[in-house]
Amino acid sequence: MTFAVEFQDVSRHFGDIRAVDHVDLQIAEGTFFAMLGPSGSGKTTCLRLISGFDQPSSGHIRIFDTPSEGVPPNRRQVNTVFQDYALFPHMNVRDNVAYGLMVRGDGKAHRHQQAEEMLSLVKLDGFGDRKPAQLSGGQRQRVALARALVNRPRVLLLDEPLGALDLKLREQMQEELKSLQQRLGITFVFVTHDQGEALSMADSLAVFNEGRIVQVGPPQEIYEKPRTRFVADFVGSSNVFDPQITIRFANVARWSSLRPETVSLTPAPDATGVLARGHVRSTRYLGSSIRVTVDVGGADITAQHPASAPVPQPGAEVGLTWATDALHLMDQD
Ligand code: ATP
Repeated sequence: MTFAVEFQDVSRHFGDIRAVDHVDLQIAEGTFFAMLGPSGSGKTTCLRLISGFDQPSSGHIRIFDTPSEGVPPNRRQVNTVFQDYALFPHMNVRDNVAYGLMVRGDGKAHRHQQAEEMLSLVKLDGFGDRKPAQLSGGQRQRVALARALVNRPRVLLLDEPLGALDLKLREQMQEELKSLQQRLGITFVFVTHDQGEALSMADSLAVFNEGRIVQVGPPQEIYEKPRTRFVADFVGSSNVFDPQITIRFANVARWSSLRPETVSLTPAPDATGVLARGHVRSTRYLGSSIRVTVDVGGADITAQHPASAPVPQPGAEVGLTWATDALHLMDQD
């Protein structure tokens, strides 16, 4: 199998800072791949290493099976969409999009025709004569996309491309980006610190922490089977139990996690099937559901309760149940 991008034991250190630390990574061709992690975990540095704007301190990067050492950014079949769009304010939209072709020396007629085609692809037909300042944030984002796609990269790198958009527009652009990737069939590598975004868009995602990849896999696997406490905490909200607590529920001394949506709450603490009982500590209204946190003695367990059901009051004694396989045992801390 050909990988669009492959990291072999790649590190990038800046003095004492290990921005990227012994990363192995394989990104399958034609997939939507997300890099998810907190600020400073090394995601942007990885993108810069793929694009060729930065070089590894050690290790090797292959792009479509070709070693990338010594290959300049413009020869890598890779292009980047930046969070701030980096559009030229004095150029109109068409010339912004065609910029990469101009640098390459393509003729004007060809450049314009290609730019118009890309503008149509991102649903901006007829916007070619406008200046970036005459566009909305979402439209500017699309121009940046068109500009990155115009020289037909085989890999598109997107660094927090939706970070500047408000929630509604962000959700709309998430769907558009996903559908664009599917239509073009090229590889997208998408950096985000928003776990919902990564889970909903990616075919596969890597979770970063402190310059390392802690888990990589399809969204469902990352969400349902977090390998470490860090992943369980960072991806969605989870009840995380230390080994002393886990042993009460599963008879093994391991770290474990339990998603709130798998926990049911009953007002009858003595009902059959109750696995833990305790007093309601707090409730949090989320619109479609209510998160109820219960102190079960030594640990808090949060359950997701339907908003339509009666809400237990803080202090009330309740019982909690979950399916045995909902409690996920983790490989390591
Ligand atoms: P964010 O989500 O905030 O963009 P990130 O996960 O993309 O974060 P990076 O930008 O890759 O993280 O940075 C990883 C670490 O490397 C950080 O501690 C950062 O300060 C450091 N770093 C990045 N570039 C440089 C540089 N040129 N010189 C020194 N340190 C750097």
